[in-house]
Amino acid sequence: MLCNPNNPTGNGFSVSDIEYIADNIHTNCAFLVDEAYIEFYGRTSVSLLKDHPNLIIARTFSKAYGLASARVGYMLASEAIVNMIDKSYMPYHMNVLSLATADIVYQMRHEYVPRIQMMIAERKRMSTLLDKLAGFTVYPSETNFVLVHYAKAKELNQYLESKGIGVRSFGDAPGLKDCLRISMGLREENDRWYAEMKAFVEGRV
Ligand SMILES: *Cc1c(COP(=O)(O)O)cnc(C)c1O
Repeated sequence: MLCNPNNPTGNGFSVSDIEYIADNIHTNCAFLVDEAYIEFYGRTSVSLLKDHPNLIIARTFSKAYGLASARVGYMLASEAIVNMIDKSYMPYHMNVLSLATADIVYQMRHEYVPRIQMMIAERKRMSTLLDKLAGFTVYPSETNFVLVHYAKAKELNQYLESKGIGVRSFGDAPGLKDCLRISMGLREENDRWYAEMKAFVEGRV
């Protein structure tokens, strides 16, 4: 399983990297590419399905379409894999109202493009601004969030919480120590959390 672009780091693999892996995995082994954030990235591995019957692409309505509470996603795979997974389903495994909602959202997907473009623009704008904060390392992102490293991440997170701002703090998690994942919001919301971060970093709180 590979998440592309990845959560929580935000980096993306090129389609040729995915193809290289797909070409070198044993055909008896399923290869799942999780494209939960693909709408923010655009470089899908769908074209590889044709020549890789063991490839599975997983998608969700939870991120770009903001439908997390409907609990609905989908997969793209060869007929053999689809039939195999179909056998494992329990009756009524999927809420019909969620399916109906997803169907409508899918038909309206073009109307979400401006919002997705706005999120991408905000991610770029906020990455540049975060990079200006002393002691911050900003990791390149292809998603709707930005991962940063900051030595006082835990203290900063506590301060943000006290201001009613929620970011994801990774505490001492392996490989993610003192990292924060910040999801993009509307421009005004982003300006607000940034102002609080800047105040904290500059010792004005
Ligand atoms: C959000 C997310 C999903 C999908 O989540 P659901 O809400 O369960 O559809 C899958 N993979 C990753 C990496 C995610 O971040």
